[in-house]
Formats: sequence, structure tokens, C-alpha cells
Amino acid sequence: MGLKVAKFGGSSVADGIQLAKTKQIIEEDIDRRYVVLSAPGKRYQGDSKITDLLYMCQMHVEHNLPYEQVFQVICDRYMAIQIHLGVNANLLKEFDVIKENLKAGASADYIASRGEYLISLLMAKFIGYDFLDTAGLVQFDKNGRFLVEETNNTLGEELRKHEKAVLPGFYGTYPDGTIKTFPRGGSDITGAVVARAACADIYENWTDVSGFLTADPSIVKNPKPIGSLSYKELRELSYMGASVIHEDTIYPARAANIPINIRNTNKPEDIGTMITSEEIIHEGQIITGIAGSKDFTVMAIYKNNMNAERGFVRRILGILEDYDITVQHMPSGIDTVSVVVPNSHLNGRLDEVLGDIWNNLKPDSVDVFEDMSLIATVGCGMSRRRGVAAKLFSALADAGVNIRMIDQGSSEMNIIVGVENKDFDASIKAIYSAFIEQTAQTTA
Ligand code: ASP
Repeated sequence: MGLKVAKFGGSSVADGIQLAKTKQIIEEDIDRRYVVLSAPGKRYQGDSKITDLLYMCQMHVEHNLPYEQVFQVICDRYMAIQIHLGVNANLLKEFDVIKENLKAGASADYIASRGEYLISLLMAKFIGYDFLDTAGLVQFDKNGRFLVEETNNTLGEELRKHEKAVLPGFYGTYPDGTIKTFPRGGSDITGAVVARAACADIYENWTDVSGFLTADPSIVKNPKPIGSLSYKELRELSYMGASVIHEDTIYPARAANIPINIRNTNKPEDIGTMITSEEIIHEGQIITGIAGSKDFTVMAIYKNNMNAERGFVRRILGILEDYDITVQHMPSGIDTVSVVVPNSHLNGRLDEVLGDIWNNLKPDSVDVFEDMSLIATVGCGMSRRRGVAAKLFSALADAGVNIRMIDQGSSEMNIIVGVENKDFDASIKAIYSAFIEQTAQTTA
């Protein structure tokens, strides 16, 4: 018998109908012994996620505003689910406890965590699994840093006492027992942490898409799905905006070499995307996927004999650090170095930052390109092929796109180009057409 950890996202537990599908998936495979859940997400466009409603309640209390109506909406959703599933988890008592804590000024983390907690209680009853609270098992230090090894040991020990269990995702506890959440979307991380602690054979991440696609479907029509992907490629694609799972999900899974399989609760027959440590190069496939993000600023700093000046780059980074701005990329050439920063970090302070750069570094010139996009073309098969960069650049040139920056990481599985925001869609379409559409045609 194998062991699978199955994590279900917000859309898979959004209402009774979705929970029934989730139950069927779990019961179809006896290896699916540990189940990790997100809080109920949106049931339809325009609906609210339970987590958002919980945060809203807490904000209302914090600002002395009436919160009862929002709280009631949350209770009603759980009651409707409970009735639909035909189980009894004594929800009224649970709501009372949460309400008391809310009124007493409980933290946003605690309130938000109740979304996962309540749905896991209901699900455990519905499928007849033990309910195993992650409070006390998933551990953070007093500064909020996730305690990787401590969690792995404590959680592993506890899991061994339960043959089958449902665990709420997203949260754990500080050393004093108060609740601390992972970042938004963090139930994916809990799933990977549980998979590692349970020594699972596979970590299944069930969501509402059948895995990763080679490009964003809102830009490219019907992009090809990605059947398999390495952890490293996944990291590059997620970092650049391909958002199917939380990017930090990779680390626990990779530490224990557990494959991650992204699956679709609404189409369980689809095999989804398999993510492993292996870098598989498929015949006729040069790249694995394309992803990108908008709204960066590039500051290209020139100074004659820059390389002879000690600490030049350190001083640039120091200035940015003083403004609490992170550097996303730093392509350099002889006598030039460019820093790429997110517009959201600059937050209207570009002139001040430039002023400090001029005063401290006395450059010969600084060119600034605002409203830039970064587009990553990712694939472990790229490094062993000749002409990939040339093909990429000519595809963009043919599409009339002006490349403002090029950065090829030392991993050689990623070429990042900087283009103007207005050229973002056209660039992705051109790269897709050159590397995926045309390759598919020639290998067909
Ligand atoms: N419920 C949390 C959120 O909405 C965590 C998760 O769903 O992964 O961010």
C-alpha cells in the first residue's frame, strides 16, 4: 500500500457539491490517507472567499464597526455545507467560541485560520477520517519563522498515530500556542509539509485547473498543458507569475524528493502536471513554459571604469535596501549595471532613489525605463540546444517588440527579457508561436 497526501484548494471545498466530488476522489484511492484543506473559496464569479470574509470581520472589530452581518454570512455558508453533507459537527458551539474570541480582540491570523479549521472538521465527519488540528504541530518561532525540522518531527510522530486524517491547511502556532498563518495561499505549503512528515509517495494538489499550462490562457488561446516539470522549472515559472500553487510549496516536497501532482477536482480523469526533481527533456520540446509579470522599473547605471571602483554594486544595493526595495534582477555589462525593481516597491519614490544614486555613485549616466515587463522563457532543455536565444530574439523582433533588457540566469534554463508593458501580450504570443506552436507542427 502506498501513501498519498491530497490537498484540496478553495474551489474544491467551496460548497456541498464540490465537497461531494472531493469525497469521491478521496474514496477512489485507499492510498489517499491524509487530506489537507483550504478554506471554502468562491462558488461563482463575484462570490467571496471565506478567508476574505474572516479578515473583514476582524478588521471591523478592530475599527469598532459592526461585524455581525459578515460573521452571519460566514456561519450561513458553513451551516449550508453541514446540511448538504448530512453531518453534525456541532458548528453552533464552534461559532460561539470564534465570536467570543473575535470580540475579545483575537488576531487576524487566528480569525483567518478558522476557515480551514471549520471545513476540516466537517470534512473529517463526512469521510469518516480523524480530524487532526495543525495547531501545535505546524510550528513557528516567536519571530514567525517556520520551524522546518521541528514541525517535520512533531507532525510525523502525530501522523503515525492516525491511519487516516483530515488536517486544516494554512496555519500553525507560535511557541506560546497562538495561531500564526503562512502567507495567503499557504495551504499548499501545509500540504507539502504534511507530505514530507508522512513520508508520502506523492503529494497531490487538487485545484480547479488540470495543471500548469505552457502560457497564460488569457493571452494565448488554448495553450498546451505541461505534463511534467522539474522543481527548478516550477520555481522559475511560479516566481515569474505562473500561479497554480504557492511557490514555497516546492521546498518541503523537494527536501524529501516527493513528486507533486497538480490535479483538477472538476476533471479527475485528467492526469495533470507532475513535478519532480528529474529534469526531463522531451523529444522535440525546447522550452517548458513561458511566464511573465508586469510593472517593473529598470535603472541602467553607466560609469567609465566601473569595475575598478571598489564597492560600486554594494553601494547601489545599499541605497535600495535603505528604501526597502528588493532587486529582482541585475544584468551587468562592462561599465554598466542595471537594477530591476518592482514599481510597487518604488511606490512613487523614483526621484529620491535616483537622487541618492547620483550623489553617492557619481555615475556618467542613468537611463530609466519605467513600466517594464519581465518575461521568462523556461526549460531545462534549452541549455543543450544551439540557437535558442537567437530564435527568441528574432521571434520578438518579427513581432515588432523592442527588447530593453536580457538576463540569462546561470542555470541556463531561463532567459528573461525586459519589454515595455504595452508589448507584454504580443511578446508572450510570439514566443509561444516560435517555440511551442511551430515545434508542435514540425514534430507532428
Ligand atoms: N485560505 C487561505 C487563503 O485564502 C489559504 C489557502 O487557501 O491556501 O489564502
